[in-house]
Amino acid sequence: MTKVRTRFAPSPTGYMHVGNLRTALYAYLIAKHEGGDFILRIEDTDQERFVEGALDIIYDTLKITGLKHDEGPDIGGPVGPYIQSKRTNIYIEYAKQLIEKGEAYYCFCSKERLDELHKNAESAKQTYKYDKHCLHLSKEEIQENLNSGVPYIIRQNNPETGTTVFHDEIYGDISVDNSELDDMILIKSDGFPTYNFANVVDDHLMGITHVVRGSEYLSSSPKYNRLYEAFGWQVPIYVHCPPIMKDTHHKLSKRNGDASFEDLIKKGYLKEAIINYIALLGWNPGGENEIYSLNELVKAFNYKNINKSPAIFDDVKLKWMNGEYIKKMNTDKFTEMAIPYYKKIITKDLNFKKISELVQTRIEVLPEICDLIDFFQDLPEYSADIYVHKKMKTTFENSLLTLEKILPVFEAIDDWNIKNIEDACMNLVKELSVKNGIVLWPIRTALSGKKFSAGGAYEIADIIGKEESLKRLSIGIDKLKSAIK
Ligand code: GLU
Repeated sequence: MTKVRTRFAPSPTGYMHVGNLRTALYAYLIAKHEGGDFILRIEDTDQERFVEGALDIIYDTLKITGLKHDEGPDIGGPVGPYIQSKRTNIYIEYAKQLIEKGEAYYCFCSKERLDELHKNAESAKQTYKYDKHCLHLSKEEIQENLNSGVPYIIRQNNPETGTTVFHDEIYGDISVDNSELDDMILIKSDGFPTYNFANVVDDHLMGITHVVRGSEYLSSSPKYNRLYEAFGWQVPIYVHCPPIMKDTHHKLSKRNGDASFEDLIKKGYLKEAIINYIALLGWNPGGENEIYSLNELVKAFNYKNINKSPAIFDDVKLKWMNGEYIKKMNTDKFTEMAIPYYKKIITKDLNFKKISELVQTRIEVLPEICDLIDFFQDLPEYSADIYVHKKMKTTFENSLLTLEKILPVFEAIDDWNIKNIEDACMNLVKELSVKNGIVLWPIRTALSGKKFSAGGAYEIADIIGKEESLKRLSIGIDKLKSAIK
């Protein structure tokens, strides 16, 4: 059996669109599921679109996400170069072969003439098609034009009758009338190939067995098949992936301000969650489980289960999934990732790991940390009303009693740790013969200044330290006294 070889063939646009990353992921999974090769090829023949730093974004994304390529511009390989702009001679050579076979031809039409054809098609409400004008030039005319340096392009010569059929693994058999096939450009006037030509030549020369790409290329695939046939090459297996939508009517697109991979990382999503989530955009593993590591995806992935119907990018679900990954993280690793967020809010020397233990299970994305931890830094302004809690049966009066009683007890604790803090509180519960809430709710409230907080009385007291705890209890006492007056 031939070894499976897939490729990720991004154009250096300067960002990694979620759809591109999904294509990369599916191509990777198809290859690795079968122990095959995953190749990176840079499609930079559209020189106008060149963006500084764009290659790094591609390399970095593959590295961060763990989609490790086996061959590519940075690591080489047996069928390089892997950057299309370094392969221009190859494309010209193959285009000339097609000319020899009568499957392609030089076209010297001026921009004005082509504009005219476009205009005519538009006013006749027809799809534009080149009229094969230059196909009929004599050998001598062509030679003369070439000799005198008339700018030219090379076009595919498609038949005008009959049909072309092709098979896509996801979309099935598709048949197109040849009369619909435009004589598409293979080589542009700048000598660079079009995507349409380069993808066929490269996929063949690089031994690609499965071509994985977005469904926007589906309609051009009959023309690609005609090229494969013209060369006498075997057509690869096509796996066209469904579009990713923002909602039922709009495609997800960076141009519409939708998130790229880098944006998602900046928004505090974990790379593992992003990969897991986008794997499910158009592919269904079957069964209940939706949480898959990259290795598990490699084992489970079967491209035959990719859906044709558009996939909707659901922020809420991605957030949920991210929360699941955050909960499973080890606390040290979580703390490492959370530190930039902690440092935005907290300048005091507090134990971040202890804070992590309180917030890790309460957030779905990292920036949510900020709202949960502000009170560790400074006691917020608050109203005494938050001491009153129906279920806890706390009132201004019993809250005041709790705080007045616990203040000297806390003051007397020499070794400030969570165990001693807890013992002190529990002793007070016993002494007053009240329910825990009557003691713990007012203390927690005074220490946090919040109606709800990450962490209870002991944890907060432990983290903010003895001195700060005593200060906050005194503030609570004053507040309650003035509320009672
Ligand atoms: N360079 C194309 C793009 O970035 C890739 C299409 C393909 O995978 O064949 O959209």
